[in-house]
Amino acid sequence: MPARILDGKALANRVTGSIRERVAARIAAGRGVPTLAVVLVGEHPASQVYVRNKRRTTETVGMGSRAFDLPADVAEREVLDLIDRLNGDPAVHGILVQLPLPPQIEPERVIEAIDPAKDVDGFHPYNVGRLVLRMPLLRPCTPLGCMKLLAETGEPLAGKHAVVIGQSNIVGRPMALELLMERCTVTICHSATRDLPGLVRGADIVVAAIGKPAFVRGDWIREGAIVIDVGINRGADGKLCGDVDFAGAAERAAWITPVPGGVGPMTIAMLLSNTLQAAEAIDGRPSG
Ligand code: NAD
Repeated sequence: MPARILDGKALANRVTGSIRERVAARIAAGRGVPTLAVVLVGEHPASQVYVRNKRRTTETVGMGSRAFDLPADVAEREVLDLIDRLNGDPAVHGILVQLPLPPQIEPERVIEAIDPAKDVDGFHPYNVGRLVLRMPLLRPCTPLGCMKLLAETGEPLAGKHAVVIGQSNIVGRPMALELLMERCTVTICHSATRDLPGLVRGADIVVAAIGKPAFVRGDWIREGAIVIDVGINRGADGKLCGDVDFAGAAERAAWITPVPGGVGPMTIAMLLSNTLQAAEAIDGRPSG
């Protein structure tokens, strides 16, 4: 039976619609406009597209957006000084520094400089530690978006065997922690993993975050599995594609996310959700 599509675009529209209402209610009640500062260093083409989307979507829900575009050769000190100023600015609730950064800038140092209360990407060691300890506050957006998509299936997650392919700090690792928090049995795979096809064949849930087009083959997917494809790649035909062979996997899976229109829109929706959460925590007065 062909898989059902987990429509990330539709779900993201529902989430952002509800955020828009909560933002409007906040503003009507005289509270500050939740505001996101987005720092972009250099002219990485994919980053420019992501940042443009993030800024545009922030504005469409009625939030404030502050743009800081710095030249590729900017000194690390200048970036840290900017973050210091944004940390101290009460009108800024969220700070996002788009990755990757040019080689003269240490991403860990920049991430650690962000006030954890404004760390809407959820990458600060404090926020990652909270997730490890099952006391999450601001959570990494892509894994959180994947969890919302999994919830859409209506299937109970406890006890399912989830195989996460990829162990990056921004996707694979926090994804595994999110799944563990829902009491999945989690296997994390990476480039040194032996017998990846065999592990994937045993998975009830497959999350692919590798960055290689159609790397996960359809015949690896167990009948009835849920497939979440995080990958965003440019295929040989120039079109966007995921890390999973969509057509092959869709013949066997029960549910699958498309690329584009799956995880990507949910990542941005979760960024807005985190920004609103940060604003509410900062002024200590939840709205709605
Ligand atoms: P990354 O390069 O940091 O990590 C890739 C991971 O894949 C590594 O942990 C590596 O060990 C693993 N890997 C590589 N080759 C492998 C192999 N042969 N077998 C098993 N594992 C292997 O990438 P990332 O930042 O985690 O991103 C992964 C993908 O997700 C990329 O395509 C990226 O564009 C995409 N992405 C999408 C979103 C979104 O919103 N949809 C957000 C972030 C990243």
